[in-house]
Amino acid sequence: MDHKLLGLGLGPDNGNELDRLLASFPDQDAESVRSWLPGRGGSGTNPMAMLENLAAAGDDFVKPDENDPRAIRRIGVIGGGTAGYFTALALKAKRPWLDVTLMESKQIPIIGVGEATVSYVTLFLHHYLGIDPEELYRRVRPTWKLGIKFDWGPHPDGFMGPFDWSGDAVGMLGSIATTGNINGATLGSAMMEADRAAVYDVGGAPLSLMKYLPFAYHLDNGLLVSFLAELAQRRGIHHVEATLEDVVLSGDDWVERIRTTDGRDLSFDLYVDCTGFRSRLLGQALKTPYNSFGSSLFTDSAVTGNIEHGGHIKPYTQATTMNAGWCWRIPTRDSDHRGYVYSSSAISDDEAAHELATRFPGISDPRVVRFRSGRYEKAWRGNVIGIGNSYAFVEPLESTGLVMIAVEAQTLVATLPASWDAPQVRDTVNAGLAQQWDAIRWLLAIHYRYNTRLNTPFWKECVATADVSGFQPLLDVFAGGAPLTRRNVLVQDLLNRIAPTFFGLFGIDYLLLGQQVPTRLLPMNEPVEKWHARKRAADVLVGRSMPTRQALEAFDAFPELNRQLLEDEDSWAGPAIARRVGLG
Ligand SMILES: Cc1cc2nc3c(=O)[nH]c(=O)nc-3n(C[C@H](O)[C@H](O)[C@H](O)COP(=O)(O)OP(=O)(O)OC[C@H]3O[C@@H](n4cnc5c(N)ncnc54)[C@H](O)[C@@H]3O)c2cc1C
Repeated sequence: MDHKLLGLGLGPDNGNELDRLLASFPDQDAESVRSWLPGRGGSGTNPMAMLENLAAAGDDFVKPDENDPRAIRRIGVIGGGTAGYFTALALKAKRPWLDVTLMESKQIPIIGVGEATVSYVTLFLHHYLGIDPEELYRRVRPTWKLGIKFDWGPHPDGFMGPFDWSGDAVGMLGSIATTGNINGATLGSAMMEADRAAVYDVGGAPLSLMKYLPFAYHLDNGLLVSFLAELAQRRGIHHVEATLEDVVLSGDDWVERIRTTDGRDLSFDLYVDCTGFRSRLLGQALKTPYNSFGSSLFTDSAVTGNIEHGGHIKPYTQATTMNAGWCWRIPTRDSDHRGYVYSSSAISDDEAAHELATRFPGISDPRVVRFRSGRYEKAWRGNVIGIGNSYAFVEPLESTGLVMIAVEAQTLVATLPASWDAPQVRDTVNAGLAQQWDAIRWLLAIHYRYNTRLNTPFWKECVATADVSGFQPLLDVFAGGAPLTRRNVLVQDLLNRIAPTFFGLFGIDYLLLGQQVPTRLLPMNEPVEKWHARKRAADVLVGRSMPTRQALEAFDAFPELNRQLLEDEDSWAGPAIARRVGLG
């Protein structure tokens, strides 16, 4: 438990014990204490300020010494997908003295599938990378995601996983008691059900409450990467168009130089492997062992396509159970991206494409993408670090791809020493990133283990055998009483220590209660009428809000709405939260 929490919520109290003590001191002594711990409005003291934390965290980056032959100055980022550009831009934004070069191959395309993100990425793009929202809206044309709608589990309506889940502001237990599902737990869920966003027309002008409703972007990968490439050029990142052919080592885990197919030799102090699934440096050259997640996650392929939405933009990502996997829907401004993630040992590519086309008539020509789920044992070895798919990957069931790239890039920025002779923290970074990826593995595995919606051979096998062992402690506690977030504080603390969850215990509650995994529901601590009253109030806010497309157009037309979202101190996406999570 964080002892700093002990002081939270305790306000100054004029006429407190310290004031009484100071009254007994000589004036000069009393005044020196009062000027250290002034009370509100200048009268009396605020003794709680004795607990104030002046040692606020900052960056502790050390600039390389000009005379140090082992200084780390020249960074080679190999690969120009999201991972390459996020990393290059992050390094340049926070350590502008670095000489950053990004190399990419015209012959090898980026993954380029539509991408759903999480709210953290919104903060990362604007606060950490310093991307102007007006420019992002103009160039990438994002849509909003208030959460994920799962067509999953036994309830015919499925369930919502909204981003305002940690609030439980309408009430999860009231929702379950009244409707049999969790969809009435938050305002975000209610907006999702109604296909609306919290923007209002007040006297002909838009008024936004989106700063109180966490959301993420849906970003078209192709548009995003070409925008990032232009930004990188403007920010002084060198660009080399070449295909890596060979990696010359000078030790087990040290890259001396790389050779391109057109005969160039390039050398850097640090090599960031962003070559996607090929993992040319970390995997192929250094032969780093690979940990497969295959016993938990059985899928290895996706067939993708676009489908018209006729202007009806959903404010969420959708995940629909399919015969041998699931299908995403990611809305863009012009159409919905669809992708059926399946196991090639359960059905063929043609069968998958046929099922997709039958279920969603009108879908464009399908494209098949292969992947594998797992991570390399280490992300960072010697002077090579893998970021993005070159290090780890899981299917996009919880939209964890981009957020993990952001986390990996930030981790590199935060820990890169100024010199190879300085103390090294590779082991710490490797352990920290591995722990986060493993938590994602278990998080996804419980989507498979408990989804009883279809009884096909694929789903029977998932329910019978998907390995969820990393989350067994959570599952054991859940079976004895839920929601986990209403359990005893020490029980929650214990779980957070032994089974870190990536999205927190709220996320686990949504997934397990949404799939109706058996448990003993904890009693409500209020009459159910109170839930009804809050739900009615939430429905009022939903009923008067705009359909998503109209709300997005209001943000396009009125840039001050984005400024309010990103600059107001009372916004979930404002500077205060950004600072708190290390993105300010
Ligand atoms: C089916 C699918 C759906 C996904 N959906 C989502 C989602 O909804 N949300 C989400 O957050 N993430 C999602 N992802 C993950 C996401 O697409 C990737 O993690 C992300 O785009 C990063 O990819 P990357 O940059 O690591 O690799 P890539 O995009 O593959 O880029 C690799 C780069 O390396 C370069 N390269 C490779 N070899 C060489 C070489 N020899 N020489 C020079 N250059 C080379 C290529 O030219 C390219 O520029 C999804 C992934 C898949 C497979």
